Amino acid sequence: MPKLIVQKFGGSSVANVEKIKNVANRIASYKRKGYNLVVVVSALGDTTDELVELAASISSNPSARETDVLLSTGEQISVALLAMAIHELGFEAVSLTGWQVGIISDASHTNARIVDIKASKIRQELKKGNIVIVAGFQGMTADMDITTLGRGGSDLTAVALAKVLNADRCEIYTDVNGIYTTDPRIEPKAKKIDEITYDEMLEMASLGAQVMQARSIEVAKKFNVLIHVRSSFSDNPGTMIIKEAKRMEGVIVRGITINKNEAKITICSVPDQPGVAAKIFGKLATAGVNVDMIVQNVSHTRETDISFTVAKNGLAETRKEAASIARTIKAGDVLVDEDVARVSIVGVGMKSHHGVAAGMFDALAKKKINIEMISTSDISISCIIKKKSAEAAVKALHSKFGLDKK
Ligand code: ADP
Ligand code: ASP
Ligand code: MG
Repeated sequence: MPKLIVQKFGGSSVANVEKIKNVANRIASYKRKGYNLVVVVSALGDTTDELVELAASISSNPSARETDVLLSTGEQISVALLAMAIHELGFEAVSLTGWQVGIISDASHTNARIVDIKASKIRQELKKGNIVIVAGFQGMTADMDITTLGRGGSDLTAVALAKVLNADRCEIYTDVNGIYTTDPRIEPKAKKIDEITYDEMLEMASLGAQVMQARSIEVAKKFNVLIHVRSSFSDNPGTMIIKEAKRMEGVIVRGITINKNEAKITICSVPDQPGVAAKIFGKLATAGVNVDMIVQNVSHTRETDISFTVAKNGLAETRKEAASIARTIKAGDVLVDEDVARVSIVGVGMKSHHGVAAGMFDALAKKKINIEMISTSDISISCIIKKKSAEAAVKALHSKFGLDKK
């Protein structure tokens, strides 16, 4: 049996006709070498963002089911165009939507989870000698409703297909040469990382490194799918995402991330009594609000402020919910600050080194950046700061932890 490769091309790799042709050429070069190919494609360029805006111009609260019907059209355009471009090069290719492939998901529209992949259609088409082009980011419920798999979900489609088809390789092609120590668009001194562990990549992705969807890394880790992240525009080797990276111990901080998609909410003058936090966060959870960092000050009077961060999307609802909670518990005002960013340092080496947090705070202090909230995990430390200082913070931390040097 010839080897099977799953390749995924992101929106930036197929943003225009010229780029689609470039991708087709790359795919053809692998077919010439005798590989079987399953290719996952995202929507062209910023199509998904444009579709989200289009929906927002019709409704301030569009139905999630209809949003999925709308968003899934983006990927259907790219698979058809890419198949045509491959035909032009004299190769056989068929495009398939998520539902044709049998990607069955649950019904949590706009962020659905894959429950099963039938893949029999893919296998049939591969047997016929076709290059199979699959629309990323989409699935179908058992009731035959169209779903999407969360932003960046084409990464998940690719990883899940690599697992189900038992592919020899899973390659994620994007507009940078691999995973960098931080977003190279923010810090040009960022260095490409040759190998990174699932845990570090998962942490970086969850904390804002947009280059891989966090959920796709969760699946890759669970099933041990080896991922190679590399550039659509060069043949250079990229980054391998693997179980254990070599020379891991010497590295304390592997990467720096930034996330501007969170807002800080403060409920002021909360009565300092047992059970109040349970009430606040219980009600938020019931309302479906996903709370991230939480800070409660020590009170010297009988009242205290409680701050927490939430995703900006859905903020209007969260604000309403927080205001209603504040009334019920007889607290004061609810303040919402959208002008914040989270900067984080990530690395498994942190587990066994001390002074890392102090180093982070020192680097921010030297830049006169005020820290509003702090949170830590086993392998990361995050600070909430003012959004306008975010880029400066990333650069300061990148240099502080020696990531500028190879
Ligand atoms: P695609 O269209 O291929 O899915 P994305 O735009 O989703 O690409 O992700 C690639 C982008 O992620 C890069 O252009 C880069 O600016 C950004 N990025 C953020 N953090 C990192 C990082 N640590 N390493 C590489 N790229 C990063
Ligand atoms: N097109 C979808 C998005 O922009 C999926 C993806 O790009 O992976 O989120
Ligand atoms: Mg992406």
